[in-house]
Amino acid sequence: MDSPFILRDIIYCHECKEKLITKKSTPAKSKKKYLYYCCPSCRKKISTDKIHESIFADFSLRWGRELKFYEKQTHKILVRWKKGIEHKINDLNENLEKLKYHLSTLGKNNEYYQELKEIFEMQILTTTKEIQEYHTTREQIDFLIEDEMQTELIGRFKQDIHRYSNEEKRAIFLLAIEKIGVNFSKDNHIRIDYRLTPYVQIEDLMKQLDIESA
Ligand SMILES: [Zn+2]
Repeated sequence: MDSPFILRDIIYCHECKEKLITKKSTPAKSKKKYLYYCCPSCRKKISTDKIHESIFADFSLRWGRELKFYEKQTHKILVRWKKGIEHKINDLNENLEKLKYHLSTLGKNNEYYQELKEIFEMQILTTTKEIQEYHTTREQIDFLIEDEMQTELIGRFKQDIHRYSNEEKRAIFLLAIEKIGVNFSKDNHIRIDYRLTPYVQIEDLMKQLDIESA
C-alpha cells in the first residue's frame, strides 16, 4: 500500500531509543487528517510533513554534494568485501581438506569408527554448503561491482523527489538510510545515519561475518 508513513521502522526517539509508532488524528472540527510519528514511551510526537521535508532537504543536499564520492566509496567497499569473502573461502577450503584427510585416514578398527565417520561426513557437508553460499555472495558482489544502477537510482531520485510515490520514496530511503533519531527535547533535532552502501543485505551479512567495510 502507498502508506504516507515512509520512514516507519527506521525512525527512533533519540532519548528513549524506541522505534516511533505511527498515528493519525482528525480533530472534531477539522477535515484535515494529521499524521504523526510518536514515541510509545515518552509520548512526544512530530508531524510527518515536517520531518519528511527535513529528511528530503538533508538527503538532496548530501547526494548533490557527495554522490560521486559515495560511488567511489561504494566501489572500494565492494572490492574489500570481495577480498574478505575470498579469504573466508580459502580458510574453509583448507578446513575441508583437513576433514577429508581425517576421514580417509580413519582406521576401521578404531572403536569409535562409525561415530567419527558420521561426524566427519556431517562437517564435510556443512563446510561444503558454507563454501557454496560464500561463492554465491561473491558472485553477487562481482555483479554489483559491474553495476552502478543503485547509485544512479539514488542520484536521479534526489533531483525530483516530489514526483515519486510514497512507496518509491520509502524504497530509496531504506537503501540509503540506516536509522533516523529525533531528539524531541532539543528542538526536534534530527540525526540521520546513512548507510555505507545501498546494498543492505550484503552489508548486514558482512557485519555478521565481521568483514570490514572501512
Ligand atoms: Zn521517547
